Amino acid sequence: MLTSVALAWAVCLPSTSLTVQVGQPPTATPPPPRPAEVLPSSPVPPRPKPVLPESSPAGTYTTQHVFLLMCDGLRWQEVFSGADAKLVTKDQGVSDPAALNAAFMRETPQQRREALLPFIWSVVPKEGVAYGNRARGSVSSVTNAYRVSYPGYSETLCGFAAPYLKDNRKVQNPGVTVFERLHGQPAFAGKVAAFATWDVFPFIFNTERCGFPVFGGTGPINFGKVNDAIRLWDTAREEIPSPWKGSCHDAVMFRPALEWTKLNSPRLVFMGFGETDEFAHSGKYHDYLISANRFDGYVGELWTTLQASEQYKGKTTLILTCDHGRGREANAAAEGAGTGPDGKPTAAVGSWRDHNKDVPGAEETWIIILGPDTPAMGERDGGPAVTNGQIPATIAALLGTSPTRFAELEPKAAPPLNEALKPGIRR
Ligand SMILES: [Zn+2]
Repeated sequence: MLTSVALAWAVCLPSTSLTVQVGQPPTATPPPPRPAEVLPSSPVPPRPKPVLPESSPAGTYTTQHVFLLMCDGLRWQEVFSGADAKLVTKDQGVSDPAALNAAFMRETPQQRREALLPFIWSVVPKEGVAYGNRARGSVSSVTNAYRVSYPGYSETLCGFAAPYLKDNRKVQNPGVTVFERLHGQPAFAGKVAAFATWDVFPFIFNTERCGFPVFGGTGPINFGKVNDAIRLWDTAREEIPSPWKGSCHDAVMFRPALEWTKLNSPRLVFMGFGETDEFAHSGKYHDYLISANRFDGYVGELWTTLQASEQYKGKTTLILTCDHGRGREANAAAEGAGTGPDGKPTAAVGSWRDHNKDVPGAEETWIIILGPDTPAMGERDGGPAVTNGQIPATIAALLGTSPTRFAELEPKAAPPLNEALKPGIRR
């Protein structure tokens, strides 16, 4: 049955003439795409019929819960080497370089990253694996050509780069996320949720179809059990204006999401943090670093909370990644991005602020996995080149769906990150 469904889907996808128009939802006003991420209109493909797996056989892994946290546009350069000295300048939005240097600048990359992301670098070497330090030959990437958020999130959640997703337009995702696939299993019904700071996420997860709640940074959290603390965060989010159209601060997403997790005992959770990308686009390196540091604190608080719970302790895998990289330079012209016909920068911005198909390095990502089924390899040194599209098959495997079965359901998806799963290599 499964094979025939998968085959039927595979056969009908390219040939069907159904013209399901995936356009703007009738009730929403079309928002302007994020700055610097506008690309030409995409041809809209037919929407594949969701193929939900049957109840999975008993899993071979200890993991019973997965939390996927994504930090929008946080560069691998900061993840692995901490604060970038060439960006700690007034030109790059650092009003007090001495203060920022005191907080995060250290002699070696290892010391700098431990200052910036102290929780992550206290646990990764002992309990997990980190891909993407290109300075050490570990390569992690998104494979979509556009290197903006929606295509990057979709690739990370569905397992493949969708050529029809080119920008951040609010279209219901034709692709099916691994969250939606798992939610279709009885064991996950009511146990899947997504929280994000950005109002495009309900489209990325396709709330017209997916069946589980997706909080997109606006309005109250009105699903599952809620309490007075969540209500207070709803009020704060409503009454404290965000500087950004369509997205809220990380705190007013994460705090109630953590509270909701404690109340509702979910098995599969997404959390999307957006401040790093917003501050980078604004050219505020100070605020970008502070947000990265705060993200690390949130990761630590979540992990500590989970490990103090009988339900989650020793049975939870945490996956951290980003949706795209950014440029590498303080000066856009230094790497040929954003240059005019005269070869001079078209705007007084550094390429680190931006990411799109024309920015070298914007495809470069990082992936960190912590959990009971992941060998404690620490920071990878060389090793296989990995992609964000491998994350869905990895999540599916950890939660009991074999890679073979997942490949039947989603033939376009990349294979799991096998070495991050038992019995992967150890060193
Ligand atoms: Zn962006």
